Order: sequence, then C-alpha cells, then structure tokens
Amino acid sequence: MAKATTTIRQVLNYQPEYGAWFATNAALFNQVAAFYFEVIAAHEKILDLTNKDALTALEKLTHTTQKNPTPVMPLTAIRDDIPAMFRRAAINAALGSARSFYSHLSKWRSRREKAIAKGKKFHERPPVPLRSWNKSATLYAGQWRERAGSSIILKVWTGSVWSWIKVRITGREIPTDVEMGSPSLIRRGNQWWLHTPIEKQFKSPGKIEKHVTANAQTKICSVDLNINEHLAVCTIRTVEGSILATTFIGGGQRVNGLRKKQLGRIARTRAKTGIIAENEQDNVNLWNKIRNTDEQVAHLVSARIVQFAKEHEATVLVFEHLGNLKPAKGTYSKRGNEKRAYWMKGRIFKYAKYKAYNAGILTSRVNPRNTSRECARCHGFVARYNTGQPAEDYTMGAPLVACHQCGMRGNADRNASLVIGSRLVARYQKPSKEKPHTPLKAGRVSKDTGVVISQDAKSVGTRPSPGSARHGDHNEHGTAQETGAGMVAPAHDIPYQLRFPF
Ligand SMILES: [Zn+2]
Repeated sequence: MAKATTTIRQVLNYQPEYGAWFATNAALFNQVAAFYFEVIAAHEKILDLTNKDALTALEKLTHTTQKNPTPVMPLTAIRDDIPAMFRRAAINAALGSARSFYSHLSKWRSRREKAIAKGKKFHERPPVPLRSWNKSATLYAGQWRERAGSSIILKVWTGSVWSWIKVRITGREIPTDVEMGSPSLIRRGNQWWLHTPIEKQFKSPGKIEKHVTANAQTKICSVDLNINEHLAVCTIRTVEGSILATTFIGGGQRVNGLRKKQLGRIARTRAKTGIIAENEQDNVNLWNKIRNTDEQVAHLVSARIVQFAKEHEATVLVFEHLGNLKPAKGTYSKRGNEKRAYWMKGRIFKYAKYKAYNAGILTSRVNPRNTSRECARCHGFVARYNTGQPAEDYTMGAPLVACHQCGMRGNADRNASLVIGSRLVARYQKPSKEKPHTPLKAGRVSKDTGVVISQDAKSVGTRPSPGSARHGDHNEHGTAQETGAGMVAPAHDIPYQLRFPF
C-alpha cells in the first residue's frame, strides 16, 4: 500500500469577536512553543530521544503534578490552566523547530571545523534560532469536538478563559475514505481558516519498468516544459507507439510579461536608491508578487498536466531533466526572468510529481540532451524555423520543425514531448529494438545514461546523440510526429489556456 497526504483548506465563518480570540489563542500557543524551545535549548540531549520520549521528558521538566511537585522549569510561569492537549501540540511544534535548528547548527559546526582544519578562513554565519514565533495553533483531539460537514466546535483561549465556540465551515469537505490529522487554525489576512491534513491509503502503483514492459498498451504522458507561450506540451502515447492526444498548456507570454515588468520595476528602484546588498529584500511587495505569481502558475500548470494524464488514463508521467541553468546575457530583468522561469519549471515538475502520485500515476525523467533537436520519428536532426521562413537551419525557439531525413513536419514543442516519451520507452526496451533508424550524424554517445529517475528504475538507453547542443534551459525544442508519415495533428490538439486569477 502507498500513502498520499494532502491538506483540506476550509474557510471558517464565525462571530466577529472570535477572530480576536483565534489570534489570542495563537499568541499563547506560540508563547508556549517558544518556552519549550528554551527548555530544549537548556537540555539539548532531549533531541536524541524520539518525539514520544522527548515529550515525556519535557513534561517532566515543566509540568507540575502531585508526583512532580517542583519541575525544573515550570510551565505555570506562563499560565497554570493550559490544557494538556494544547501543551502537547505546542511541545511538538517546539520539537520540530528545535530539531531543524540544531541539525542546521551541527552541519554549520562541522563545516567550520573542516575549514579550520584545512587552515581556511570561515566566514559563514551560524544559523540563528527563531526570533519571533509565528506558528499556527494545531488542535489536538480534546481541543475540538463535534466536527460535522458544515460546523465544528473549538476550544480556544480568549485572553481570559478557555472557551468552546461553534464555527461554521465552508469549502471542500473531508473525503470519507481518508485518515484525518489534527487541524490547524490558520490566518490569511483577516480571515481564519481550518487546515486539516488527510492521509489516503491506496494500492501502490508499482514500478515504472513493470508498467512499460508488461503491457504494450500502457499509456505514457510525456511533457515538454517551456518558457515561451506553451508552458507545457503534453502528449499521450502507448508503449508500442500510437500517439493518442496532445495538449498545449498556454499562458506563458502573460506570465513572462508580468514577471518581466515587475523585475524591471525592481531594477529601476535599485538604480534610484543606489547599490543594495545582495539578498536584501528591497521591493518586498514586488518580490512577493513575483513569487506568488510563479507559485500559482506552477500549481495551475502541474494540475492541468496531471488532469490531462488522468483523462487519458496514463499511468506514467515523463519529463526531461532540467539540466543546469546557464547564465544568460542581457538586462537585469531579462536575466532574472530566465532564472525564475527555470525555477518554475523545477517547481512544475515537483508539484506534478506529487499530484500525479496522489492519482496513482508514476513520474520519471529522461536525459534532456537534444530533445528539441531530434526528430521524434527517425531520430535525425531537425530544422527549426519560423512561419514563413524556409525549413532550414536551427533557429532557437522557433515554433516549427522539419526533418529532411523522413519528411516529418510539425510543432517544435510537440516534437520535443514525443522525443521525451520515446526516451522513456527506449530505456526499457532491448538494445536491438531501440534504434529502428540510424541517426544521420551519430555524434558522441551521451554520458548520462538515458534518464535519471524519480523512481529507481534501471536506466540503460544510451543512444548516439545527434549533436552536442543541449535542450534543457533554453527554449529550443524540435518537433515531430512519430506515427506514420504525414501524420496530421489530431483533433484533440486544442491549446488549453489557463485562466490565471491575477
Ligand atoms: Zn525524421
């Protein structure tokens, strides 16, 4: 069995004064968590224990009982009526923070020791513990009751008493076939939300190798990510090679334009205010805007990719590896834009992998070398060109491709997505089957074996690569339709335009 986790986010509807109580409750939660962080800092050995034993040890150090009348650091210093489950949630929040902080600290210490041992100077600053605690209060069982589809009763600290209050819930309901975790009270602006983690058990999707080798009708969704208008081009194919559908997920120009405009503004502000240290968060709002835009786009695009794969019952999703980001030339906003577009591709992959897994779909990645320069049908070199230009040479980023070896013509990004899909299949096929056509120019053999993989499949597929150009970060894909000669784009090739909420 495999497990998938996700969070259900629901809006709370409540009487106006409750909003202030939720805030007061969260402030107390953070005060208690910060207190326990101090206790842990004074007793670092606690971190060697499991969470369960650490909790017991921390309670012994802080909680006054008849058997334990004088704890070392009494929690009553904060309040003497903190409910056990409130305390425990705060302890676990403190433990989480402390584990993360001390592991960063110990890594920093060993880096410093190494540097000193080598006689090098070491300038890296040590990690610092949280200066201000801003965690969301988690409600353990005992801090809530009577959870129904549209309401829940919560126990919160109002500032003067512990009070049970009933609030209405709207939004996505908790599915019935899941295991529910402890909900948290989350503030977004002036609105309080209830976030509930859920865990679903499902039949493990198995290994990619099995999917690809056991059934020639297994459907694969191969995805070419771009930084131009078509942020993603997805093609569904069977293992034996029939191409069933393609979709173009658009909206890239709008996103790039928006981002470039914001980066341009930042550049202008910087020019006006003089030199600003690297990492300094000038233009905080603009940076937040850019970040939020990228995040939203990555979620939308990845959701659409997985939806497309699900619609066509694909069981494997395949991307190409991102490769390295090559420093680009040009203005600040141009360079920054390319960098962020590169990060976004990484995020789209990450989110798609996660969403696909929750849908029982496996994800893999293949070698990005020349995915845009190779003909998906015969593996020869393609010419890439703009509409109205002769089908010659290779113009980076141009929308059309033509293969002079086999006559294939088509959309460049679609060709790249087909090449990506065939690389995954080739990885699991016997070498004799792998090369039906000899590439025109069998250049050097790619060093990276076929694919580095999200799943631990055995990769073989080294294939002569048609040249030395790389795909990866730039916008240089080739196209090809892989089925019989003269294949026309099928009817499902309808560009899918994402509607961005900004
Ligand atoms: Zn060809």
